[in-house]
This record gives sequence, structure tokens and C-alpha cells, in this order.
Amino acid sequence: MTHLPDHRLRQREYLLQISRAITAQLDLTSVLSLVINVAVDLLAGTAGLIALYDEQNNTELQIHASSGIPHEVWPALKPLLQIPPGYVSRDNVVQALQDVMVNTGLSLRQVIALPLTFRDSRVGMIYAFRAALNVDFSADEAQILQAFADQAAIAVSNARLYQGVLREKQRLDAMIEQSADGVMIVDPRWRITTFNKAMEHLTGWPRSEAIGRPCAEVLAIRNNQGVNICLVDCPLQRRPHSLNPVAEGWVTTRDGRQIYVQSRYAPQTSAEGAFLGAIANVRDITQQKHEEEMQNTFVSIISHELKTPVSIIKGYAGTLQREDANWSQETLREGLRVIEEEADRLARQIQGLLDVSRIQAGGIRLDMTEWDLRLLAREVVEAFAAQTDERFEFEMRFPDDFPPVHADYEFVRMVLTNLVSNGVKYSPEGGTIRIGGWADDEMVLVSVTDQGIGIPPEEQERIFQRFYRIDNRLRRQTQGAGLGLYLARAIIEAHGGHLMVESQPGRGSRFTFTLPVGHRRISVDITT
Ligand code: ADP
Repeated sequence: MTHLPDHRLRQREYLLQISRAITAQLDLTSVLSLVINVAVDLLAGTAGLIALYDEQNNTELQIHASSGIPHEVWPALKPLLQIPPGYVSRDNVVQALQDVMVNTGLSLRQVIALPLTFRDSRVGMIYAFRAALNVDFSADEAQILQAFADQAAIAVSNARLYQGVLREKQRLDAMIEQSADGVMIVDPRWRITTFNKAMEHLTGWPRSEAIGRPCAEVLAIRNNQGVNICLVDCPLQRRPHSLNPVAEGWVTTRDGRQIYVQSRYAPQTSAEGAFLGAIANVRDITQQKHEEEMQNTFVSIISHELKTPVSIIKGYAGTLQREDANWSQETLREGLRVIEEEADRLARQIQGLLDVSRIQAGGIRLDMTEWDLRLLAREVVEAFAAQTDERFEFEMRFPDDFPPVHADYEFVRMVLTNLVSNGVKYSPEGGTIRIGGWADDEMVLVSVTDQGIGIPPEEQERIFQRFYRIDNRLRRQTQGAGLGLYLARAIIEAHGGHLMVESQPGRGSRFTFTLPVGHRRISVDITT
């Protein structure tokens, strides 16, 4: 067994202590303080410093740790940082030391300065000082200090790597957190480790409760039969593995909503192919799903709505043409009237469809002019009064100074006609249909009120959706494709206005829309 000299033993112990500190804690300042304290102690020095080049431009040294020198005097030590690497003072006091002694009152008479190098790049400097002039730093001592310098360099590089990783992680966390899609990360045991804000919003689960739970519990995606796909057919566990695992289905949120989601997974595997976890990207595609369903309903409604008048027309035309029958004038007229009525109905349906596709394809192009809405209201009322029987009464209520509107005449006519037509259609008992108006400086408010069957509260938003018709007794008895209110709202919103409904089932409904006021009146005011 070899006997190491005492200081070698201590050096070995110290280095061990330092390398333990480096692996145990990643706080750079405390590791550097340990290194410099131990080094100064071992060299029987008075003081010591560790300075590092800044990470960006790598030119300027900055003090990061000291031994035997209070923190407050660090700014006064700047001249010391000019001492070149590898410098060992011999029996003389360097000018930089002189200056610092004068300025700080510290006794620093001898110095040894060594570079901190890691993989050929210089990351900083280590300095040890003595107060006495007569004991030079020996070559042996220089070697000892170099060993500490190497340790410090490793600590610096570790800490910087760690900080780099930490920064990346923070950036990634922020990206995940801010993502508009729901993002969820699961560990190899399918437990949730990350759950972003969008995911909380989507599922109604607070992050604090979702984390740690199995993903199949929090995002229980069910197929149309109500079976939890995540339990019985998890796309990540299918064999053979699919390249783009994805699951789609219904999710009941924590707060009881039903949403339709699509979840795409990016599985992570080790080099040996073991499952390490997965990132799930979850999107709420309820709206898309509804639209898909509506398209299907659309086809059935349209085929029904279009086929009915066509078959009536065809039936009447065929009957009237029969050569063996001798139709009376009255029967002929009645037949032709039905044919005309059904042809009109067909034309209206087709026009409605054309309007919808036009609005969807290119938005609504408005031809804005200024005109008096009271005249339009009168026109509409007169048309309906002529078509309806005595069960209905029509009323108009507008103030005398009702201003002109700034709007597209034809489009607003469509809206008003549709609202009045609905008022009539959905008032089987008849009643009063009232068109009223009210204005302030910026907009006019127009309402159409009926005393019909009304609309249940839960249906009041849905009736503005495309192809939506309330499933009630009148649904079968009235014509319609559920497009009128969808179009009306689109038209009013294109004008910058709103269309809303208030209704009490059994009592009636009031539809109100806003439109911008025309400026003619205002400009007249200014010039007079
Ligand atoms: P349509 O009348 O062609 O069905 P709309 O989009 O105009 O389509 O209306 C959608 C649904 O809203 C109607 O089917 C009806 O159930 C309901 N609705 C609309 N207006 C009224 C009203 N004034 N009173 C009661 N229900 C109404």
C-alpha cells in the first residue's frame, strides 16, 4: 500500500467531495464556492476567485465565486481579471494587486492564475492569492490548483448544459400550454403526466385532478354504441402498430357536455422498441361532426322537399292530360292552380338552396343604399295580408321620425319576409303579427312578433343552424328546409347587425334584428 503525503490525501478527499457536489447539485454558484474554498484551503492561501466568461460573447470575465473576499468588493477586483492565464507571481507584487490592495484594503501580494478549460475551450479563470510575499506558489501547487480548475470547468459546463436543457424544456412547456389543441402526455403506464390548458377546457377536468390518472379515464372516448374505445381498442396498443394512431368518438366532459373528439397520438419507443409513453393531440370536432350529420339530414330533407312538389305536379299534370276523362273547367282550373303553387314552392326551395350555397361560397355581397324600412314593412305586410285568411291581423308600429337604414334592400326584404312567413307558419291559431321599429343614433331595431306556438328555450339558439327544424307537430304540417333563419342571421350579421329571438312556448315569439342607420339625416343636420 502506497502512502500518499498528507496534502495529496486531502486533495484527493477534496476532489472527491467536489465531484460528489457536481453530480448531486446543479446549482453552479454553490459548486464554484466549494471549489474555491477548498482550493484556497489546500494551498494555504489567503483568498481566491473564480471568474467565468459570459456565455454569449465569451470575451468578458465575471466573478462568480470567491473565498476570503466579501461579495461587496467584487466590483473593485476588476483589475485582477487582466492577469493572464498561467501567471505565477515570483517575489514581486503585480501592479494589478497593488491597485486592488489600495482600493479594498485586502492583503493580496502573490497570485497564481490558471485557466478553466473544458474540451479545449476556455470557460473562465481561477485565482489564488497569498498575503505574504516570501512564500511563492510552487509548481506542485500550480498542479493542485489546475486539478481544481478542471473540476470547476466540468461544473460550469454541466450547469450550462443543464440550463440549456431547462430553457428548452420551458420553451416546450410554454408551447404545449399555449397550444390551441388539447395536448396530453402519458407515461409508459398510461398515466397522464402533462395536461395543457386547452385540454382542461376541452374535457372540463382540472389539471390537478387529471395528472396521475389513467388516460382512458379522463379522455374516455366512446363509439356510437357507448363503448370506451380507450379501454377495449386503444389505438396505441393495436398490433401491428399503426403509423398514425388516432381515435375518434364521443366524450362526456366532466361538466356533462357531449363532445366529439379526434385524438392523434405520437408514441415514443426506446431503441429496443419498448413503449415509453405518448403525446396525444386532441381536437374538439363536434361542429364538424354536426355539419356532417346535417349534410346527411340535408340530403334526406332536400330529396323529400323537392320530390314532394315534383310528384304533385307530375300527378296533376298526368291526371289532367288523361284523354278518357272529361274534366270540368273548375277541375282544370283547380288542377292548374295546384301545379302553379307547387311549382312556386319548388322555385322557393331551389332559391333557398342557391342562397345558402352562394353565402357559403363567397359570403354576402351587399349593395348598400339608404331607404325607408317602413315602406318595405308595408309591402311585406300587404303581400301576406293578401295571402292569409281572416285569422291573421297585421300591425305596424314605427315612430314618425324613424330614420332611413343603410342596408341592402333585397337581402333585408328576404329577412323580413322570412320572419313574417315564420310568424304565420308557426301560428296555427292565427293572431296578430306585428312589425315594430325603434332607433337610436347608430342603429335601428326591427322586431317581428307573433302569437304562435313559441319556441322552447333549449331550441332558441339551434333554430339558427342550417337545416334545423324543431321536431314538433307543425314540422310535418309546414313546409321548410330549416334554412330561413340561418340565412336571415347570416344576412343581418353581414350588415354588422344581430338577429335574436325571445319566445315563450304557447304564447308567441319575437324576432329582433338590428341594422345600421343611414347617414343622410345626419349629413343634412350638419349642413343646415
Ligand atoms: P323553416 O321555417 O324552413 O323550418 P327556419 O330556419 O325559418 O326554417 O326556422 C327553423 C325552425 O325554427 C322552424 O322549423 C321552426 O320550428 C322554428 N321557428 C322559426 N320561427 C318560428 C316562430 N315564429 N315561432 C315558432 N317557431 C319558429
